[in-house]
Amino acid sequence: MHVAFNEIKVLSIEDNEGDTLLIDDYLKEEFVDPKIIFVKSFAEAKLQFGKQDNFDIILLDLSLPDYDRKSLVENIIDNAGNTPVIILTGYADREFGVQTLSLGVSDYLFKDRLTAAQLFKSIVYSIERKKNIISLKEKNDLLSKLTNTVPIVIYQFEISVDGKMTFPFISEAIKKLTQNVNIEDLKNDATLIFANVHHDDLIKFLESIVESKVNLTEWAVEFRILKENNEIIWVKGISQPELKENGTVVWYGFLEDITAVKTSAEQLLMKNNELQKTNEELDRFVYSASHDLRSPLASILGIVNIAELSDTKLELNDALGRIKSNVKRLDDFIQDILNYSKNSRVKVENELLNWKLLVEETIDQLNFMVEASKISIEMEINDGFSFYGDEIRLKIILSNLIANAIKYQQPEKKNKRVSIKVNVQPDIVEIIIEDNGIGIDSKYKDRIFDMFFRASKGSTGTGIGLYIVKEAISKLNGTIQLETEVNTGSRFAITIPNKLIA
Ligand code: ADP
Repeated sequence: MHVAFNEIKVLSIEDNEGDTLLIDDYLKEEFVDPKIIFVKSFAEAKLQFGKQDNFDIILLDLSLPDYDRKSLVENIIDNAGNTPVIILTGYADREFGVQTLSLGVSDYLFKDRLTAAQLFKSIVYSIERKKNIISLKEKNDLLSKLTNTVPIVIYQFEISVDGKMTFPFISEAIKKLTQNVNIEDLKNDATLIFANVHHDDLIKFLESIVESKVNLTEWAVEFRILKENNEIIWVKGISQPELKENGTVVWYGFLEDITAVKTSAEQLLMKNNELQKTNEELDRFVYSASHDLRSPLASILGIVNIAELSDTKLELNDALGRIKSNVKRLDDFIQDILNYSKNSRVKVENELLNWKLLVEETIDQLNFMVEASKISIEMEINDGFSFYGDEIRLKIILSNLIANAIKYQQPEKKNKRVSIKVNVQPDIVEIIIEDNGIGIDSKYKDRIFDMFFRASKGSTGTGIGLYIVKEAISKLNGTIQLETEVNTGSRFAITIPNKLIA
């Protein structure tokens, strides 16, 4: 006797009296104390389904009066849940019997050739097989639940011998990475994903697949996905290839969104570069500042020593004059440092500006230099459009450039000239400051904007002015260009965005 199948519960759907008796006999012959419920139609069977969740097997006769065969099988399968269904059919119906297997039936038996042993074997086999199918389905469900819960994309990718690329498995997270890609379509045609890869990364991406396929080495690549809204997602993909006997190469791996990591790494790099720049500036600053602060002080000290020994008013006045110019140098230096600090700390403003006033005020403040060097200043302001911008920084730029144009004149020249042109347009303002002074040697052209750089031996300046000009222009997202020739003059051309439209 078969202990494992004690008290088996059977639902037999059978309208033939003789067959009912036969089935009853066979079941009792093979199983210990079977519980059998006989019904004669689908309608009666349905009543049993309401109660059943514990039939071990359903035996279905195909020739019931209340249904055609195909819908009968479909309806029973629908209602049977996890209970396996065996079809009992006439030999003449064997073709249909085979078809029912694809509808989910476990087995089919020919009634006219049925034996007790055959029925037993089919029942036992069907129950075991159903158990396996259920356990397999549970494992599948578990796998897809787990893979669909994790935020990374888990996949199996295949390239067959004829080059066809498919994803036999790809988890739901792919929907977040890509757009307009249907998972089912992607499974059949993996190349659909290529359209999502950023065009600058596509060649590298495809080459890495070929390389991994040819050498059977790990596929590990970082690439960008470009979304329709121009959002860029950084993706890291890793997978291991396996060569199957039929020549297909299969990769098992994952894709991970690493945008956050990438952006913070980029930001870190940027911050690091900024910090390095500031550090270098600070170093240079400490070195030059100590020199530039000390040299006028040392001069003053020397002049005072000489003055102490002098006994004429003339000598004393001369000493005082020299002390004054050294104090002026110190003051200029401190003013430059203040401007530098203003530019880096003060917020960029956006106010309506009057260019005529701005240029005139700047020239007024430099008047003592203009008079001393007998220079003619030409001004051409074209301000037909309103201009919105940052007054503090624009003043710093103007006053440094105009002061230099005045300062670096050729002392012997007769018609010393500085020209200032301002042309306001709706999107930018163009400023041109030109002089016919000493000019700058082309080898220094790129360096004059460096901190503390002085191109001319005679310069008494601090070497900070043009550095501040460059920094201020960069804060305002503007540009500066220099054309210059030694002994002919210099021309600084600047553009600054007009925030009128911002
Ligand atoms: P400085 O305080 O020495 O004037 P800047 O940074 O303003 O410092 O200028 C750097 C150097 O560039 C100056 O020392 C000078 O040699 C050169 N330079 C700047 N502007 C002019 C100009 N308009 N003509 C000739 N040389 C200039």
